[in-house]
Amino acid sequence: MIKSKSLITLLGLGPLLLIPAIVISIAVVVILSEQSAFDKTNQQLERERIESRESSVRAKVDSIVDLASYRKSIIEAELHDRIKLRVEHAYKIAEALYQQFAFIYPEAELKKLIIEALRPLVWNNGESFIWILDDEGVFYLAPEYLKHLEGSSILDFKDANGLEVIKEEISIVRNEGEGFLWDCFTKPGESMEKHFKQLAFVKGFDHYGWYLGSAEYLDTATYKTDRELLESISKVDKDGSDYVFIVNTQGDILLNSSRPELEGKNFSAFNNPLLEELSDKIYAAIQDDGKGLIEYRWVNPLTAKIDVKRTYVRQVPGTDWVVGSGFYKQEVDAEVASMQKTLSTQHQQRLQDLLVLGAVSTVVAVLVSLYLTVTVRKILKRYQLEIKVKNAELRDLNASLEAKVTKRTAELRVANRQLEQLALTDSLTGVQNRYACMNELEDEVRRNERYHETFSVIMLDVDFFKEVNDRYGHDVGDQVLVTLTGLIQSCLREVDKLGRFGGEEFVVVLPQTGLQEAEAIAERIRLKVENFDFNPVNQVTLSLGVIEYRSGESVGEVLKRVDVALYSSKDQGRNRITVFS
Ligand code: GH3
Ligand code: MG
Ligand code: MG
Repeated sequence: MIKSKSLITLLGLGPLLLIPAIVISIAVVVILSEQSAFDKTNQQLERERIESRESSVRAKVDSIVDLASYRKSIIEAELHDRIKLRVEHAYKIAEALYQQFAFIYPEAELKKLIIEALRPLVWNNGESFIWILDDEGVFYLAPEYLKHLEGSSILDFKDANGLEVIKEEISIVRNEGEGFLWDCFTKPGESMEKHFKQLAFVKGFDHYGWYLGSAEYLDTATYKTDRELLESISKVDKDGSDYVFIVNTQGDILLNSSRPELEGKNFSAFNNPLLEELSDKIYAAIQDDGKGLIEYRWVNPLTAKIDVKRTYVRQVPGTDWVVGSGFYKQEVDAEVASMQKTLSTQHQQRLQDLLVLGAVSTVVAVLVSLYLTVTVRKILKRYQLEIKVKNAELRDLNASLEAKVTKRTAELRVANRQLEQLALTDSLTGVQNRYACMNELEDEVRRNERYHETFSVIMLDVDFFKEVNDRYGHDVGDQVLVTLTGLIQSCLREVDKLGRFGGEEFVVVLPQTGLQEAEAIAERIRLKVENFDFNPVNQVTLSLGVIEYRSGESVGEVLKRVDVALYSSKDQGRNRITVFS
């Protein structure tokens, strides 16, 4: 009973513990994964923000570089056309003059005429002009500021980069008749030491072995458009810290959208270690492939404090411009901190939501488990009750079966006893039959063997009984036998056993009885029968044999001896006793 009760408790507790355990486990897993996702995002945030800012400044610089190089390429194309046109124009004038006066003026006169005709062709306040040289490098037409060189050869002149410019020009004219050439030259009004990049076009004038040329300084050609370009770039992004700056490779600050006061000045002019650090880093970064990412200290205009700045710089291809844009690390840190705060708030909220959800789920799970437990217990209890009832029914059934079996056994025992009785009793007289009589004798023999107790036996037979039957009929004979047994019984003690041995012959076993006493009993029987009136039969007599058991005798030997005694009485005339000692 205790076992089945604890089993029910266990079965009931199963869902009660299991379901909440599963729900709590799921909640814990979800909360832990949320926590780890949050940690991961937090770690990635700064790196991603820096990468994002970097790629944004990189894109900005790249787009400005693209724009600038596109503008520069257009300017250069225009420059090419313009110079070529000037030279061709001059050539046409020279050719026209030659055609017209070649046969009129002597050569020296015509040469002078042509030179002087072309001398006024100047542009950009004398910066650009037409020059004439011959294939020996002799200067025929020189600009105003180099007029002293006219008539002399400048064949060995080298530009700032060491290029033998005149030889180069002569070679172009000789091989191709005309062509362009980039070189670095002095400028009127500027120091002769200073060289400016310029584009030249030269064309041969074969009549005198001359060539005509003209050039324009790149900075002059690009000055105006550069200003426009810088202007438009400076408007690209004025808000925020990732402003754009443009410097040239000489250290001139061309554009600084956050500090315009620096524009037009050279890094070296400030004697500021921050600026020197910046310029060193810029030129180191563009050294190899014209671009790079640098980190340096700079005053943050938003905080007015020195802050670490990450800047991407890139040189405009084919120019001396370097475009840069960057951002302050502190700014990203602040941004990341703010994002982390937002994330953290969201994370806290999500955690809170998850906890609430987890708690609600657990409560629901507990309730459902409780319901299930109660239901399961109810069902189990019902089954238990049913089993109890069935058990009781079975017990009752068993009990009634047992009662039935007991009753049937008792009845059987009675029937058996009756059968036994029937087997041992003579049906006519009700005394022991021959079989029971033999059993009785065997018992006495055994008792004698064991206890040496003596016993005696009387055998008796009705005299001339055939005549009774013959005269009065068989029924009267039967009645005589019944009456006779009653008479004999009345002469015996409780312990003495009378048995009908067959027909009208009887045996009496007398336990613990000696011969004398047996003889007396036999005599009492004989006399009682002799004197009894068996109506309608007048008188019935008996012949009797009496013996006492001799130790060691068998039942057969006993019967034989008593039979002999009985027949001895018959032989001697009947109605008498014969005693064998
Ligand atoms: P004896 O003096 O020599 O004993 O003479 P008897 O006539 O008694 O001798 P016997 O033994 O020849 O006869 C016995 C007779 O007893 C024979 C039988 O008819 C009769 N008898 C035996 N059993 C019964 C019985 O159960 N009922 C009746 N009515 N007669 C019986
Ligand atoms: Mg007989
Ligand atoms: Mg007889």
